[in-house]
Amino acid sequence: MVGGPGAGKGTQAATLAERLGLAHVASGDLFRKHLREGTSLGRQAARYMDRGALVPDDLTITMIEQRLGEADAAEGVILDGFPRTVAQAQALDAMLERLGSRVSAVFYLDVERDELVRRLSGRWLCRANSAHMYQAQTHPPKVAGRCDYDGAELYQRQDDKPETIKARLEKQLPPMFEVVDYYADKDVLHTIDGDQPHAEVTDSLLRAILAPAK
Ligand code: ADP
Repeated sequence: MVGGPGAGKGTQAATLAERLGLAHVASGDLFRKHLREGTSLGRQAARYMDRGALVPDDLTITMIEQRLGEADAAEGVILDGFPRTVAQAQALDAMLERLGSRVSAVFYLDVERDELVRRLSGRWLCRANSAHMYQAQTHPPKVAGRCDYDGAELYQRQDDKPETIKARLEKQLPPMFEVVDYYADKDVLHTIDGDQPHAEVTDSLLRAILAPAK
């Protein structure tokens, strides 16, 4: 799943993973997990994340390779937020080839930059489950500050501050477009209009996944 920060990758990847019975591997969530657990990788990654920069490729690739080695990844995974650079995409191809596998499809969630800024600025997440997300203007929780599903506290991510949002878009969109081109050249890219209601984006994704191979 490829898309700018706030394009909806996380929500859609979680839904698809559940519908298709695949593991959901989200690079940002893995970095935050490492940080909570106090690993050296987590501490190194945080220095970049706090500034809205991409974490260096070597750290990111090592982390994903470890994750793909876990048992639940054997049947295939939905990758969310990785690869974000061409070097990561090439490393992914090499690791999958070693495992006798490949990237079967890439979904680019296309959302305009102004809309990304709007979404990120009002984003609230559930402490108990990061797939439970709210948007202050378009999808507010029923009770302010509380998750509709489990009543857990809602919080705003450290990197969803206005200065960091700007930095993330400036630093991360150009390499993302290179990744989009990389997969377009390999003929595995599907561009999905990410500026539709959640359920419609999910339907578009499922239609693309279930469509006969090109
Ligand atoms: P979002 O998609 O909203 O930007 P993520 O949770 O996917 O959020 O990522 C949070 C941060 O983690 C990014 O801003 C970046 O610093 C870092 N990160 C996540 N994935 C990668 C990656 N593949 N390569 C480098 N840095 C990454």
